[in-house]
Amino acid sequence: VTSVAIANIGELVGWADDRPVRHGAGLVLSDGVVAWVGDTADLPAADEVVDAEGRAVIPGFVDSHTHLVFAGDRAQEFTARMAGERYAAGGIRTTVAATRAAGEEELTRLATGRLAELRSQGTTTVEIKSGYGLDTDTEELLLRVASRLTPETTFLGAHVVPEGWTADAYVDLVTGEMLERCAPHARWIDVFCETGAFDADAARTVLTAGIAAGLQPRIHANQLGHGPGVQLACELGAAAADHCTYLSDADVAALADSGVVAGLLPGVEFSTRHPYPDGRRLLAAGVRIAIATDCNPGTSYTSSMPFCIALAVREMGLTPTEALHAATAGGAASLRRTDVGHLGIGARADLVILDAPSHVHLAYRPGVPLVHRVITTPHSDKL
Ligand SMILES: [Zn+2]
Repeated sequence: VTSVAIANIGELVGWADDRPVRHGAGLVLSDGVVAWVGDTADLPAADEVVDAEGRAVIPGFVDSHTHLVFAGDRAQEFTARMAGERYAAGGIRTTVAATRAAGEEELTRLATGRLAELRSQGTTTVEIKSGYGLDTDTEELLLRVASRLTPETTFLGAHVVPEGWTADAYVDLVTGEMLERCAPHARWIDVFCETGAFDADAARTVLTAGIAAGLQPRIHANQLGHGPGVQLACELGAAAADHCTYLSDADVAALADSGVVAGLLPGVEFSTRHPYPDGRRLLAAGVRIAIATDCNPGTSYTSSMPFCIALAVREMGLTPTEALHAATAGGAASLRRTDVGHLGIGARADLVILDAPSHVHLAYRPGVPLVHRVITTPHSDKL
């Protein structure tokens, strides 16, 4: 089968400029891309016809921030937090110990299972970070595993300073031998710029070294307080500054001016009981936003983009349409991709048929499995 026609789409959310949401639509996919969009009545012939029976069709979700390759879980830490303890960045070390103890086969099995979990909930593009190795061999291993699952791999050796190291010595390692070994398996360089992790100078050193090695910068910033991470992202022209929980007016203005995408990770605020970032404030200022899961065992062990959309609508002031846009086109912008996150002509044939008449149901029916069918291109068969 080389072409598939989807007929009787109740609501097509394709983000095309003229009609971002259209009703009574039909769509033809050919050779792994969107080849035709129009009214069902005008649908051209195709090798196979799928009847959507009035369901909504949306672009596959683009999850621009995950930490899928790890071993162990931190359910006890979650329980303690829900009983009133605060989150501190050091919990990462627990996962590092479990991850170092697991072998390649086990890590691959675990990450592949999590990827299937994401996919079943409608995600067709995913970014995966390293960062639970914190030594050269393990960081390289995590990126090798990740790069078999997605082209969007991120070297996050600078996740936290490991036990027994000074920050200076560890930054030397991350920007030296570790970077040399990891860069061939990564597209992005990332750093956790936060009190308890890396300060602005260390973060700048890490990102600058990554850029020199051919990687593109993104950052974990302003999660636990008003830190310097967002300003650093804007200074370096990073693709994304993720978390953005605590932002000054100057931070918001810098994001709007620079075009750095603000990545909102509502699963984190849910799982840490921190205040949610104000998505409405960012959109009002003209900041581009993305929504991602941050799937990780410490602070956001969800693989569900629909759950994050529902949270963003309920807690961040976004409309259901804005939240879906951030979870698809916004994620694509965060990864500097123009071929995913929308269903315009020429886009990758990555889409979700929802068991619902409208995308609004993603937030309106939280926790309900609404994915009827996921279609992805042969090119993205890594997902
Ligand atoms: Zn993260």
